[in-house]
Order: sequence, then C-alpha cells, then structure tokens
Amino acid sequence: AEPRLVAVRASVISPRLTLVVMRDITERERVEQMRRDFVANTSHELKTPVGAVTLLAEAVESAADDPAQVRVFASRLTAEASRLALLTSRIMNLSRLQAADELIETRDVAVDEIVTAAVEAHVVQADSAGVEIARGGRRGLWVRGDAQILTEAVGNLIANAIAYSPEGATVGVGVKDADGVVEVAVTDHGVGIPEGEQDRIFERFYRADQARSRRTGGTGLGLSIVKHAVQRHGGEVRLWSRPGRGSTFTIRLPLIPPPEGDGASNRRKA
Ligand code: ADP
Repeated sequence: AEPRLVAVRASVISPRLTLVVMRDITERERVEQMRRDFVANTSHELKTPVGAVTLLAEAVESAADDPAQVRVFASRLTAEASRLALLTSRIMNLSRLQAADELIETRDVAVDEIVTAAVEAHVVQADSAGVEIARGGRRGLWVRGDAQILTEAVGNLIANAIAYSPEGATVGVGVKDADGVVEVAVTDHGVGIPEGEQDRIFERFYRADQARSRRTGGTGLGLSIVKHAVQRHGGEVRLWSRPGRGSTFTIRLPLIPPPEGDGASNRRKA
C-alpha cells in the first residue's frame, strides 16, 4: 500500500526551519482493520453455536416428561457444546498467535516429539473414520520453538487429512531434511482442493464447499492457526492439491543442529 504520512511532532528549530516528524500510518491502520475484522467475524461465528446450545437446553427442559426426547436433545446439546468448546479454544489460540508482542516459548524441540504427539492425539479420530496413519521419514531432526504450538499445527493438518479422506484411506506423515529446512508433510488421498481455493483456505473462518465442510463440523480456523504458528517460527506452509486426488500440506521450518548429548548426534560422531 501507498504510505500515508501524518505529522506526529513538529519543532521549530529556527525562524526558517521547522523539523516535522512523520509516521506512516498505513501499516498501523491495516493491523487495526484486521483486528476489527477478527472481532466481527468471531462474534458472528460464535452466535450460531451459542444460539443452538440455548435452544437445545430449552428443548431439554420442555421435554422433561418424555425421556426418549430428552435423550435426543441432550446428545445434540453435548455435540453443540463440544463444537463450541473447540471453536473458543481455536479462537483463543489464533488471537494469541496474532498478538505480535506475545512471545512464544523457544527451546530446542525434537521434530520426532512433535510428530509423535500430533499423531497420538488423532489416533481416536482416525480409528473412528476408518483411516490409517502411516508415519515415516527422517528421525533425529531438531527445530527451535514452542513444542505445543508446533504440535497443534501438525495436528490440525492431520485432523483435516483424516476428515477429508474416504474410509479405508491412508494419511501419510513424513519428515525430511531439505537443505537446512525441516519438512513435515501431511498427505491424504481425499477430496482435494480446487486451485482457485488453495490460497483462500488459509484465511480465518474460510471453509471451502459449504455443504461438504459443514458435514465434517470444522471451524474454518485450523489452517489459519497452522499458517500463523509456522510463520511465527520463521517457516512457511506449502500446499499441493488436486481435486479427486488428494492433498499434501508441508510445514517447513529452519533446521537446527541436535543439542549436545542427543542420541542422534552421538551416533553420528561414533
Ligand atoms: P475446517 O475446520 O473447516 O477444516 P480449516 O481452516 O482447517 O477449517 O480448513 C479450511 C477449509 O480448507 C476446509 O473447510 C476445507 O474445505 C479445506 N481443507 C482443509 N484441509 C483439507 C484437506 N486435507 N483436503 C481437502 N480440503 C481441505
């Protein structure tokens, strides 16, 4: 954008010379606008599940004399409440990642630790979808960052890969070292993403093909969290996808040498 300058301070140096300090407000306005959009979208997205929970709670109350009805409403209430819980926790994570001044924890993190935790957190989802998770690739690679945030990022990709795969399919989680960059690739053989939507799916609350997406009960925030999390770690996310063939999301992070005393580095020295 064109810089837009405003004077923030003027001091008269001599009768013929005044020093004016200018500041470019474009960037600040852009950030402010993003914040306003986020709040507006968030309130909008929260209204639907909050409304549903309220209605279902009232339905449970008024069906008190009919135990069968109560069970039906109560189980829908449980489903809506857990969706609401997922949505609020994702909104909180995303706003934390977007707050530029909030520091993320940085320590040496084993990529194996991230991948193991992310895969384990999705075993139940994979089982109930009839999808198998196949893990492979390099071991003993390290990155610097916040293990919890990175685990959630990889986990979101795995959750999507499962959700958009047909029953009986396999989801691959692979790690490799590509010239000083760690690549964690999550591959599925599911529905795929049309070319025209491949950029948009990383936007907050964006969900491709409403009918298909609604069925899988997502939030539209998963990929936005992945993108922000990876960018905060100096990395990037790449996507390859073809409708009907499947998708590969690749998280790329700067590789660091293994810390002293790590098994992998000892083996190399030996
Ligand atoms: P959601 O909670 O809807 O999955 P995401 O931000 O994680 O939100 O994803 C945004 C949209 O991108 C999804 O609604 C879906 O249309 C598309 N998408 C994400 N991952 C995949 C995938 N592995 N295969 C096909 N479509 C995907």
